[in-house]
Amino acid sequence: QSLENLLCALVYPLRNALSYKHAVELASRDPLTGVQNRMALSSALTREVDLAHRQELPLSLLVIDIDHFKRFNDEHGHTFGDDVLVAVSQTIANTIRRSDLLFRFGGEEFVVLASHTGEQGAMLLAERIRENIAALQTVRGRDVRITVSVGAARLQDADGPDQLFKRADKALYAAKDAGRNRSQLA
Ligand code: GH3
Ligand code: MG
Ligand code: MG
Repeated sequence: QSLENLLCALVYPLRNALSYKHAVELASRDPLTGVQNRMALSSALTREVDLAHRQELPLSLLVIDIDHFKRFNDEHGHTFGDDVLVAVSQTIANTIRRSDLLFRFGGEEFVVLASHTGEQGAMLLAERIRENIAALQTVRGRDVRITVSVGAARLQDADGPDQLFKRADKALYAAKDAGRNRSQLA
C-alpha cells in the first residue's frame, strides 16, 4: 500500500516532466523538415556567441537560401515545393558535422551554426553544401536542378548574435547579386 502510494506520487510529476519536455521539443522543431526552427536559433545563437567569445574560439554562421524557389511551387505545386524543402534540409543535415547546428530560419532559408570553425572552414562547408545540393537529381521521382546561394560570416570580437547574422545575410545577398549558385564570405 505505501509502495503504491509512493509510486503514484512519483508517476505524476514524472509524466508532467516528460510532457513538458515533449512540448519544448515540439515548439523548437519545424514540423515539415524536422530540423530546429527560428525560435530555437535565437537561443542557440546567443549561447554559441557567448561561448565562442568566452573561450576565444572561432564560430561561423552560414545562411543558405534556395535559388528561385518560387518556381518549384509555381511549376509543380506547393506540395512539391515542400518535398524540395525536405530534400534540401536532409542534404544539409548529411553534409554538416555532428557538432554543427542546423535550423530552418524562414520559408526556404536555412542557417548553420558551426562552432570551432573559422573563415576557411566556413567556406569549405558552404561549398560542400552548395555542391551536394546541386548534385541532387530527383525529388519524388521528378528530375530537378536545385541550387542554393550561401552567405558565410565568422564571429568578430565586437559581434553580438545580431551582427554575426546580419553579416552572413549581407554576404548571401552579395552571392545572389553575383548570379546565385555560389558562396560568399562576409
Ligand atoms: P531567390 O533566388 O531570390 O531566393 O528567389 P526565390 O524564389 O527563392 O525567393 P522568394 O523569397 O521570392 O520566394 C520564396 C518562396 O518560398 C515564396 C513562398 O511562397 C515560398 N515558401 C515559403 N515557405 C514555404 C513552404 O513552407 N512550402 C512551400 N512549398 N513554399 C514556401
Ligand atoms: Mg528567401
Ligand atoms: Mg530563395
